[in-house]
Amino acid sequence: MIAIRGATTVVCDRPQDIKEAVSELLFKIREENNLSDSEIICIMFSNTTDLRSYYPAKAAREAGFAFCPLFSAAEPDIQGSLDKCIRVMVLAEKSGAAKHIYLRGAKKLRYDITEVYNIAVDGPAGSGKSTVCKILAEKLNILCLDTGAMYRACALACINANVDVKDEMAVNAIINDVNIDVKYSGGAQITLLNGENVSQKIRSPQVSMYASTVSAHKCVREKMVALQRQIAEKTSCVLDGRDIGTNVLPDAKFKFFLTASAEVRAKRRADENAAKGINQPFETVLEEIKKRDKQDETRALAPLKAADDAVIVDTSYMNIDEVVSFMLKKLQENI
Ligand code: C5P
Repeated sequence: MIAIRGATTVVCDRPQDIKEAVSELLFKIREENNLSDSEIICIMFSNTTDLRSYYPAKAAREAGFAFCPLFSAAEPDIQGSLDKCIRVMVLAEKSGAAKHIYLRGAKKLRYDITEVYNIAVDGPAGSGKSTVCKILAEKLNILCLDTGAMYRACALACINANVDVKDEMAVNAIINDVNIDVKYSGGAQITLLNGENVSQKIRSPQVSMYASTVSAHKCVREKMVALQRQIAEKTSCVLDGRDIGTNVLPDAKFKFFLTASAEVRAKRRADENAAKGINQPFETVLEEIKKRDKQDETRALAPLKAADDAVIVDTSYMNIDEVVSFMLKKLQENI
């Protein structure tokens, strides 16, 4: 017998959307695993509690899967879970490897079939980490956890409360009270500060600088590292950060450290900012990058540095595709 896993998502909690998504998922599972109807023993669904209008099992019945037992259940809310997600397990009378199917931005969220593994990707701002991490996660069909976004949300909480980010006691009081979380929609991370989606607000140059200062405080690091470990323990993910390989997950299965000259990184950041309509002179961006590097590298707690067992990738003269190919090759060599 084989157990085939799969998942999909819908945009709206409407019967028609659920029917289409379930039908697409089941036909794909059947096709990719070369299953005949008589080989399917049963199909079990679980869906996130934000889907209430329709049972996925009913949709499956209507899509023609009427010959086998079907079962639907709502699942408890899981940290890092996707919105409006339908997960399925198809048990089939067959041997060989199951081909799991994830559609519409759904990712492997649990380790009930496959082993959890984490890829730590550390490095300074502008090294290409965030773009590379997103592409790697997409290619490997696992989550991408942007840990910098969490520190940025802490900085935003301090800015909102008008607190001096250098004042550890004041920051402590804010952070103790604040709720920072991440969710995924269509594969993309949404960063929440007290339930508000702050994914855009945390990208300003001011927040970048404040995040670097705030992240040096013990109370902030302890709270964010605990959250990162919780997510990584349950879910295979690529973690984009500064101290993942050295501190958050010293036992991560794979570790990379991306770097590039300060000038190259500043040019990339200035271009990125310009594309978002934030126009800063190159010299200012370079200065900020150098200041942030210094702050991150010299802080007492979990400073930015490569883990001894990390693969170092100098991206100064590599494009994104070259970096991703190199990393995939390294991963394959070690699997
Ligand atoms: O990567 P990003 O530029 O979004 O990170 C913002 C700031 O958060 C960094 O400058 C760094 O000080 C801090 N950070 C950290 N540890 C991480 C990720 C980010 O201290 N794992």
